[in-house]
Amino acid sequence: MGDQHSSGSVGAPSAQALQRLSELVRRVNSSTDTTQVLEEIANGVREVLGYGVAAISQLEGDTLVMVVVAGPEDARRQILGRRTPAVDVLDEYRAADHWGILRYVPHGRLDPAHLIGVWTPDIQRSEDPDDWHPDDALYAPLYSATGELLGNMAVDLPPGLRVPGQAERDLLEMFVVQAGLALSNAQQRERLARQVHLGGILKEVAQAGSQLGIEALLDAATDVVNRGFGAVRTWVRCLSDGEGGQETSIGHPPPAEASPGIETLRTDLAVTAWPTGALVLIAVDDVDSAFLPVSRVAVQAAMRAAAVDHGVIAPVGVGPEMFGYLAIGLGADHPQLRPDELATIGEIARELGRMVHSARLFETEQRLVSELRDLDRYKGELIATISHELKTPLTTIIGHVELMEDEGIDSRSVEAIGRNAERLDRLIQNLLDYAQVQERRDSVRRTVDLVELVDAAIELLSQQAESGGVRVVFERPPCRVEVLGDAEEIGTVLNNLLGNAVKYTRTGGRVDIEVAANDAWTQVAVSDTGIGISPVDHSRVFSTFHRSSNPEALSLPGTGLGLAISRRIAEAHGGRIEVESTLGAGSTFRLLIPSLSNPTNG
Ligand code: ADP
Repeated sequence: MGDQHSSGSVGAPSAQALQRLSELVRRVNSSTDTTQVLEEIANGVREVLGYGVAAISQLEGDTLVMVVVAGPEDARRQILGRRTPAVDVLDEYRAADHWGILRYVPHGRLDPAHLIGVWTPDIQRSEDPDDWHPDDALYAPLYSATGELLGNMAVDLPPGLRVPGQAERDLLEMFVVQAGLALSNAQQRERLARQVHLGGILKEVAQAGSQLGIEALLDAATDVVNRGFGAVRTWVRCLSDGEGGQETSIGHPPPAEASPGIETLRTDLAVTAWPTGALVLIAVDDVDSAFLPVSRVAVQAAMRAAAVDHGVIAPVGVGPEMFGYLAIGLGADHPQLRPDELATIGEIARELGRMVHSARLFETEQRLVSELRDLDRYKGELIATISHELKTPLTTIIGHVELMEDEGIDSRSVEAIGRNAERLDRLIQNLLDYAQVQERRDSVRRTVDLVELVDAAIELLSQQAESGGVRVVFERPPCRVEVLGDAEEIGTVLNNLLGNAVKYTRTGGRVDIEVAANDAWTQVAVSDTGIGISPVDHSRVFSTFHRSSNPEALSLPGTGLGLAISRRIAEAHGGRIEVESTLGAGSTFRLLIPSLSNPTNG
């Protein structure tokens, strides 16, 4: 192959070499096409300096990739695109003779299999130490201005097939310096472009924060991140903050498979990564179990399901509190994330934390405002109802008192005064009960016999039932039926249910009471053959101050508080009230309280 290359200049640099160099200097400073510039440099080394082969590799991550080869076709085929771990190359540099910035590894010093090119020229082996040996290697590390290794130039088949002398080395160094500069420029351009790009992503993520609602803002932010990093999928999961903030899980594109359980992953990250501000790098076959001791397997399964090869998980939170994470999954063809990209991802995760935090504060505020509005409306309704309900019986009382003054005492007036005073008393009792359950703290619970309480309620209402012509039937069970509770409160519920049944049943109707229990629930059912409740009113009868739209019901005195009070009491006992009713046919109200054997009592 020796005849394939011309013999280069030895001694002073030729005019051709200098001219080629000055052209290269101009190209290096003006061109943005790095590969083309490197090709021109390699060709210059071959054509002007007379080397048979000049090959330039560029550092990508921790690997040197052969990007340009000027030389015979078989050499190009063998070594173009070849990837060599940078550490192997550094090992060779260490073994080499230092010729200024060049590194010469004479044959025999290293196992030839380790040589970077692994292309061996087909030339005679000679005993003359000045002759070039097929296993001799000559490299030049390509450094940036700040001393970072950016690439390597390897040359072979030197001019005259002689080990290059000082003048040839000097000339080669000049070309090498240009190659270093070209890579350095390319690196700076790339860095700048990346900075602009990363800044753009950060800005867009911050803009997503103006979306209303946590889901909308996370949806917009994950879309930006996913596009910005050319990711396969980006997830954000935020756990409920326990103060009304919902668990939110957003993926872009929307995940087909469930992502790993947020609880375990969050616990892992909160313990390992959050305190130090670390990001967790993940690869499908290498998930760091020091960071994800519990969730490692689930993370790998989720990565496989989403065709993710590697990526990063960044905790999301604010102040000392971590409430979720951002995960970016990359495909196998995506290069490892660089330090500036990782720093940006960390900044995005912090931004997401701030955004979610303030969105949650805003939502809590909105909820409080709406609760305050409800409360204000209730207050208005309360005053209106109380005024109306107090005014009606008082007007009657005053009217009859005037009559008594004018006409002497009439027994019907006394009766009317008594009736209306009772009505006032009932109303005030209802208001007192309501106020009491509103302020209710856990009362002391004792075993209470429901049969006894039903008996007492029937006794209380017997007169009303009798005067209304309503028959009250109670099939008393043979033994006590006990629950845990507050006797006074449960008594109030029974008085209300029984009172309504009697009140809303016409003369000749009937009210049936039944007490029954199973392992889970103990119930008192109060059924009547009364006016019933329309489907529209069904769901509303438990609201405070709600009175049904049925004119027949409205003609009877009431406050719309009894069932609201009863429901609160039932719920405070771990139970509930159910209703079944048919308009015009009758109603059944059931009070259910956990049985003594029900585990909720434990
Ligand atoms: P009040 O009876 O004082 O109006 P409640 O809260 O006890 O208030 O009941 C709310 C409404 O539910 C009543 O106004 C009435 O329209 C309806 N209701 C309650 N119980 C019955 C019943 N047994 N039959 C028909 N309607 C009923």
